[in-house]
Amino acid sequence: MTIRDLPTGWQLYEHSLQKRGDSTFCVVRGSDGEKELYVRGKTPFSGGEAFAGGDLYPLTVQVALDLAGIFPWLTPQRIPVERPSFGFGDRLGLATPGHIKALGKTNVFPVLAQQSVRENARTGRTFAEVLASAIFGAFQEGYKGGFGADADHLKQVEDALEAAEIGYTFFTCDPSEHVVDVEKLSGEELRERFSALSRSDEWRDEYLDRPFAISELGELRFTEDALLRAAVKYGAAVEFAAKMYRALSERIAHGFDYEVSVDETDYPTSPLEHLFVARELRRQGVEFVSLAPRFVGAMEKGVDWRGDRDQFKRELHAHAAIARFLGGYRLSLHSGSDKFTLYPLLHEQTHGCWHVKTAGTSYLVALEVVARNDPSFFREIMQLSLSAFDAAKKSYHISADPARIPQIDSVSDDELASLVEEHDSRQVLHVGYGAVLGQFGDKLKKVLASHEQEHYAGLARHLGRHLRGLEVADERV
Ligand SMILES: [Zn+2]
Repeated sequence: MTIRDLPTGWQLYEHSLQKRGDSTFCVVRGSDGEKELYVRGKTPFSGGEAFAGGDLYPLTVQVALDLAGIFPWLTPQRIPVERPSFGFGDRLGLATPGHIKALGKTNVFPVLAQQSVRENARTGRTFAEVLASAIFGAFQEGYKGGFGADADHLKQVEDALEAAEIGYTFFTCDPSEHVVDVEKLSGEELRERFSALSRSDEWRDEYLDRPFAISELGELRFTEDALLRAAVKYGAAVEFAAKMYRALSERIAHGFDYEVSVDETDYPTSPLEHLFVARELRRQGVEFVSLAPRFVGAMEKGVDWRGDRDQFKRELHAHAAIARFLGGYRLSLHSGSDKFTLYPLLHEQTHGCWHVKTAGTSYLVALEVVARNDPSFFREIMQLSLSAFDAAKKSYHISADPARIPQIDSVSDDELASLVEEHDSRQVLHVGYGAVLGQFGDKLKKVLASHEQEHYAGLARHLGRHLRGLEVADERV
């Protein structure tokens, strides 16, 4: 009997077949839709159940980590310096195979496990479970190209250390709680707050009367006002980012990728402020690989960017030149899903040295599958997202107006999927995932499991479009 001869009703994921010594490993799916790891031969795992001449194991965190111990390409790794990188956030834990299909033959290095502390709180998942989903997804697809694992938007050092313990390789520090809104300060208050900073004298020496000759930009100079604003706005944030970095360095012996992100703050990061933040991080010994400024314009979740494209291009040019001037690091575009207007600019201005993060857009692809296959369930999801909207919108940059969304019962079945496309309903759905997964998570996963190939194809198409927009995707995607 070969391993392909499974009992009726069982499905083998052909790409997952791997041999190690005398043992064969693969992912199978029972008639109930549950996936399991099937091993024929000796295994180092415990807790298996005898089945068809081998053993079945549930897809637990421990089994994922053990599997990665056997097949080294399933262990998260650092992003290769010379390749652009793309974060495929997966809130449901089912999307990785579709993400891998989207990659095709691109040169983009994927970060397949990427969730923030906030997302995990809303989805009820842990960093370990997020990583396990990515490992099983990569295994199912037979993907050996390597991937990163990003503990995103870390606001507490303990959270960073927890992710480090599990094997994350990429840590995104979010020091936004330490960023000061200087726009609200009077000149007097600004001076007082600057003087109160422990490094204020040092910063005067470092930044005033000192031109920074950046070949592509000419000379950048800090006026006193510009220094005070940059230092008061970001000084404490830099200290916090350095503290988290030191804690991680003590815990992780073999190096890690570190990103500092200030994208979720109210006002854009000017090029001078970027210079200040990045240079201070460097001066404090923080070897960050990626920086996420708050860019100009409306960088909202799940919809294209809106704003003055020429201004964006000018500022991006300056940000990219500063990143090169300070030794070269990625510019990171958060809320990066569906920003089709910006992708060519990002690739061109950074000379391919970018990182893009997406997450909610994959959840929306999943909802399209529901809209096409289970209209009444989709209506329930829309209703619940609407009722959760007021609470959910507080922590996101979005502009949706629920009043502009048509009464869900008046929308015909075959028009439902268009609600996932339209601006207002798209954003309401986008931020409603916490409530929806809380109430309907199991049912949603069942619907996706019964339309698995359609789900993967949707992800491959939509994320593939992102990668093509970034001018690096293979035409066959
Ligand atoms: Zn972000």
